[in-house]
Amino acid sequence: CGIVARIGESDDAVEELVAGLDNLEYRGYDSAGVAVQSGCDVDVRKRAGGIDGLRNALATDPANGSVGIGHTRWSTHGPPTDDNAHPHTDCGGGVAVVHNGIIENYQELRSELSRAGHVFESDTDTEVIPHLIESAVADGAAPATAFRAAVDRIEGSYAVAAVVGGREAVYAARKDSPLVVGAGDSTQYLASDVPAFLEFTDRVAYLEDGDVVRVTPTGFTVTDERGERVRRATETVEWDP
Ligand code: GLU
Repeated sequence: CGIVARIGESDDAVEELVAGLDNLEYRGYDSAGVAVQSGCDVDVRKRAGGIDGLRNALATDPANGSVGIGHTRWSTHGPPTDDNAHPHTDCGGGVAVVHNGIIENYQELRSELSRAGHVFESDTDTEVIPHLIESAVADGAAPATAFRAAVDRIEGSYAVAAVVGGREAVYAARKDSPLVVGAGDSTQYLASDVPAFLEFTDRVAYLEDGDVVRVTPTGFTVTDERGERVRRATETVEWDP
């Protein structure tokens, strides 16, 4: 149960994401995965089991990119299998999502989306999120608006992060689950907890419940529960591992 995101300019997101997941191992998990933005698409590698299994998958089938998300899963809905591991995607593959927590109204959303033609590939509560984002994008919404629309539909507890093909950004939100921004100069990070990215930056901004954030290589903007722009100050953390 850990989230990490890396939004930079150099092409080594995957290495930093896997390093971030290693740093979050102490939280416990049963599956691991990453997704990177790759042209108009997203590239996903995920496995049930330890981070070494994910490393092996990446060694046989490498993925490269500058913007991506990673996850260690602690299953609540659906057993620990490769299909249930995060990131989860929409049918077209242009949206990938990682999530910690529980979406309480997922059954209702899943029926609604299935009726609209969305095909589900996992047993998770999480998978409704990429489909909600995709359906808003298909209706003409920009990714940031589509992400907000998806967050507005879900109930429960979550830290959630999404990557969208063709966009050098990560969209994220939190409610009753931790999420922090790590601010670098030309590379930004997001994670469930500071140790995930402390080897890359010690400048941290703590997000609050209801916050939605858009992170690009050069910075981040936050809106609160009501969609109003808010400032979340960065501070330098001193951390004694
Ligand atoms: N409820 C989600 C699942 O079962 C996320 C679990 C987690 O927090 O890792 O896949």
